[in-house]
Amino acid sequence: MLPFARITIIGLGLIGSSLARAIRAEMPTARVTGHDADPAVRETARRIDLCDDITDTAGASVTDADLVVLCVPVRAMGAAAAELADDLPADAIISDVGSCKADVLAQLVAALPGRTIIPAHPVAGTENSGPEAGFATLFKGRWCIVTPPADADPVAVERVAELWRRVGADVETMDPAHHDLVLAVTSHLPHLIAYTIVGTASDLENVTQSEVIKYSAGGFRDFTRIAASDPTMWRDVFLANKDAVLEMLQRFSEDLSALQRAIRWNDGDTLFNLFTHTRAIRRSIIEQGQDDAKPDFGRAH
Ligand code: NAP
Repeated sequence: MLPFARITIIGLGLIGSSLARAIRAEMPTARVTGHDADPAVRETARRIDLCDDITDTAGASVTDADLVVLCVPVRAMGAAAAELADDLPADAIISDVGSCKADVLAQLVAALPGRTIIPAHPVAGTENSGPEAGFATLFKGRWCIVTPPADADPVAVERVAELWRRVGADVETMDPAHHDLVLAVTSHLPHLIAYTIVGTASDLENVTQSEVIKYSAGGFRDFTRIAASDPTMWRDVFLANKDAVLEMLQRFSEDLSALQRAIRWNDGDTLFNLFTHTRAIRRSIIEQGQDDAKPDFGRAH
């Protein structure tokens, strides 16, 4: 049996449009309704036949939904939830796909008191945005972390987990605060570092812009992919997951200082040991199917 029959997706960007495509591919008898605040996005979604129905208001999209998934930037979650509160059926489950969870849960509880709220985070994405950037297989073989509040109904949690399994994800459940700490180091900090390196390189006075681009294959270009990620989404993630990001940044700064010291004092053993350890981590990521083993990320040469 399908976990849900009438699913509404609010926010039809990369993740919302991928979820719509995946549900239509894997659960063809479920009805998918979509809404986005941006009229241009709604127009594109209609043109590419993204959902069974696209509504001009958030309220009209949820009137008979059994699941509503909010796929908007994390600091817009509360406003998006408040906009549909009056039209939401009493037994509908509210979920979201936000990249940080404690702050989003607090926003949703404030906007929809007494409702069944089961947040989740599919750990999958690309550096592209918008309804045409999405694809049905985005979640296949990726993790989706479900972060229910402590008093959540286990049946509702299982229905949300089953939706993500149906679209190909492996599901894990986690406490929202723990999720935010784990993702601060595996996702948020790497994005912050990429934004910094690309910003620093473009600010250097004695290295020209054309040299930065010309010799980017030395490592820089792999940071530029991450640093091309959506500015609104990432601004929101850093502000909404402030505490965990600052904690991880502190740890990172200390480790960076240790490396600085090793280079200054010609301590090759420290450098070699760390680089050997990090190479093993890359191998484990490939072994666990979380990346491609092809050299240079499979680029054609
Ligand atoms: P996106 O491509 O920029 O799409 C977000 C869409 O939501 C935009 O069309 C935006 O419209 C719309 N929107 C903003 N506020 C709204 C509101 N109040 N009501 C209705 N629609 C609204 O972003 P995305 O990459 O799909 O990210 C969506 C969510 O997924 C975020 O919470 C993000 O943290 C999470 N996520 C992202 C990734 C990733 O790699 N991208 C991975 C996992 C989770 P405008 O055009 O007006 O802004």
